[in-house]
Amino acid sequence: MKVYILENAFWNFLLSCIEVYPQECLGLLIGSHDKNKAVVSHAVVFQSAERYKAGVHFPRETAHNNVIEFLDQCLPHLKIIGDFHSHTREADYRPSGEDQEGMVENQVYIIVQIYKKKKSQPWRYNKDGTLLSGTVGDFYFKIGSWCKVLPAEPFKLAEIVCPFAAGFRGVK
Ligand SMILES: [Zn+2]
Repeated sequence: MKVYILENAFWNFLLSCIEVYPQECLGLLIGSHDKNKAVVSHAVVFQSAERYKAGVHFPRETAHNNVIEFLDQCLPHLKIIGDFHSHTREADYRPSGEDQEGMVENQVYIIVQIYKKKKSQPWRYNKDGTLLSGTVGDFYFKIGSWCKVLPAEPFKLAEIVCPFAAGFRGVK
């Protein structure tokens, strides 16, 4: 699975996670996907989410239904393809046990890790292209996308393609 992150979505990840830091941020991924690839066109923050330092809760059903109806009427080429949230602790880029309970197959789950940077780093992929990291202002970010095709499989990191971010320098 390859996950393409478009420019709008990339900026929204950064902005929405910085806005509520050190609390966690949560939102929907809007785009399109088939078996081999997903395109994240927009990342829409949940206004109804209640944020805590160690997790986020939101009325998933109501929020999903309202957004699905809106997309049907106004942007029928797009749908909800998954969700994203931030993790604000170092070394915490994987979905927690609680995260995984809410995750299902054939959806995309992006975790944006954000914490205070130690030094500046231009944006780049890790070796196998599954993690995208870099700094902006005071913050270090690491973006990973988790999915699985079959219910019995473990969630795995998908390859990320975000040409807009690679090489971007968020220097202060
Ligand atoms: Zn989490």
